[in-house]
Amino acid sequence: MSGQMENDEWILATLEKAMEKGRDVLCEGAVANYIPELAKANPSNLGVCIRTSDGRTYETGDFDIPFTMQSISKTFSLILALQTAGYEYLFSKVGMEPTGDRFDSILQLELKDMRPFNPMINAGAIVTAGCVRAANPFQAFLDLVRRLCGNPKIHLNEKVYMSEKSTGTRNRSIAYLLKSVGVLDGEPEDVLDVYFRMCSVMVTARDLANYALILSCGGVDPATGERLLDPQIVKVVTTLMMLCGMYDESGEYAVKIGLPSKSGVGGGIVAVGEGGYGIGVFGPRLNKKGNSVGGEAILKVLSDDFLLHTFAGVPNKLTGKS
Ligand code: GLU
Repeated sequence: MSGQMENDEWILATLEKAMEKGRDVLCEGAVANYIPELAKANPSNLGVCIRTSDGRTYETGDFDIPFTMQSISKTFSLILALQTAGYEYLFSKVGMEPTGDRFDSILQLELKDMRPFNPMINAGAIVTAGCVRAANPFQAFLDLVRRLCGNPKIHLNEKVYMSEKSTGTRNRSIAYLLKSVGVLDGEPEDVLDVYFRMCSVMVTARDLANYALILSCGGVDPATGERLLDPQIVKVVTTLMMLCGMYDESGEYAVKIGLPSKSGVGGGIVAVGEGGYGIGVFGPRLNKKGNSVGGEAILKVLSDDFLLHTFAGVPNKLTGKS
């Protein structure tokens, strides 16, 4: 048996071990229900996909079941705002600091200068969505998601979108508050409509692994060699993912798992490796912070066994790079 085949077998066996750990903790989490349509998710779903820059894919469980990306959309809208409005303008409206508060917190806005702390919390993402300069911001967003995930079939889940649009009173409060102080560009209802749509786009763990792979490769698609993103933008997005991507669990997650990641209340987590690989996980049962409980357990095993922590200081066992 060749070395690569042996290694593949070991990687797949580790993935199964990680899935088992994930299943063990599912009972500790619950499916999000504050958006009524999300409560219909299958609580036992769990899946993972890893893609590497040399074309290997390892996947198991429910890696091809679509779910709404929810807050993972915040990374794509950040990219789009940086591409269309520019770095200076965007960061005059929103900060780069972790909050340590809930993702939908309003408290810090008034305590500070009304500028949301970062683009990964709801207030910051709503401002970021308002900064997107495009004739049709949602279409531009969808095109970007399809390109970076390598899946032209990615589409909106109308039911989840309508469900959030008709119940999203807290996000409405945030948008109107930020409009009242001149931080939000555009009309609150128009920006919220785009924001709710962005959150309601369906992806799979495999789509997320592909996206993470492109971020890991500095914005280049390793399969074609095509540059899809400016490396400066990749740097900004992945740094903010590391600092603020896992809600008010970002610090603990960074210490324990150590990969720039973003989660969403639909149960997805996208994790960007160093040295050319990407990971997507999916499991709709969430912990108290709003992160996939099974997904985090899977990522912990992968990080430990494959030496994936960004600051591990040793070559990882997926790509042999550090
Ligand atoms: N659409 C959700 C909201 O705005 C996204 C939250 C999340 O995934 O963190 O509440």
